[in-house]
Amino acid sequence: MRIPFVAGNWKMNKTIAETRDLLSALLPTLSGIDGVERVVCPPYPALMTASELVAGRGVGLGAQDMHWEEKGAFTGEVAPGMVGELCGYVILGHSERRAYFGETDETVNKKLLAAQKAGLTPIVCIGETLAQYEAGETAKVVSSQTRLGLQGVSAEFAPTIVVAYEPVWAIGTGKASSAENAQGVHGGVIRPVLKELFGAETAQSIRILYGGSVTAANAAEFFSQPDIDGALVGGASLKPEDFISIVRAAQK
Ligand code: PEP
Repeated sequence: MRIPFVAGNWKMNKTIAETRDLLSALLPTLSGIDGVERVVCPPYPALMTASELVAGRGVGLGAQDMHWEEKGAFTGEVAPGMVGELCGYVILGHSERRAYFGETDETVNKKLLAAQKAGLTPIVCIGETLAQYEAGETAKVVSSQTRLGLQGVSAEFAPTIVVAYEPVWAIGTGKASSAENAQGVHGGVIRPVLKELFGAETAQSIRILYGGSVTAANAAEFFSQPDIDGALVGGASLKPEDFISIVRAAQK
């Protein structure tokens, strides 16, 4: 049985004071929702405050990115061990990092191996662009991102990886994928690649999230699909009632 997983990616939103406010609105209810692994991912400056607020509340904390090196002359970067002091999770390979900051499958893989070493649970994002979708290249792109991003991870670590399928054309656009289309990619492309990489049992245990304009209104339809094990939520994770509804919808 895969425990459903819902993560909120706050992106470059929320100051420390605003993080305090949002968590004050979220935590009383979010803390009491059983049977769903739920995680919030504020920006770096707010992680310290957030870590104090979520401690003991049953809600995980994630960073939105990290570097793969342990320390050194990498101005502006944050090391895995630094993330690990505050967080249990880290988002890797988000399409905005790929599109605007030069993230590649190779750097995603380096970061994933660093997450393994640092004991962090990675949420690895993959997904095709609109042009690739329209050219019928979804399966090719997504399977290649999965293979290259996840290569070389240990058999023990593999089951802890969370994969997020986020079609780029659906992120922040209000145009979510249909649940059937997402199920087709999860069950027809990603899980079979995971099976090739790690074997059937491990492939069955890895959570595959859908991300891209998930809302309180459409979440339940996604979660009713057999291979959609939760969601990576952007915009709706900033609205307490919506995020709570999405987490509730993930309870099986
Ligand atoms: C995201 O940021 O990963 C995301 C899916 O955003 P949104 O839910 O706003 O589409």
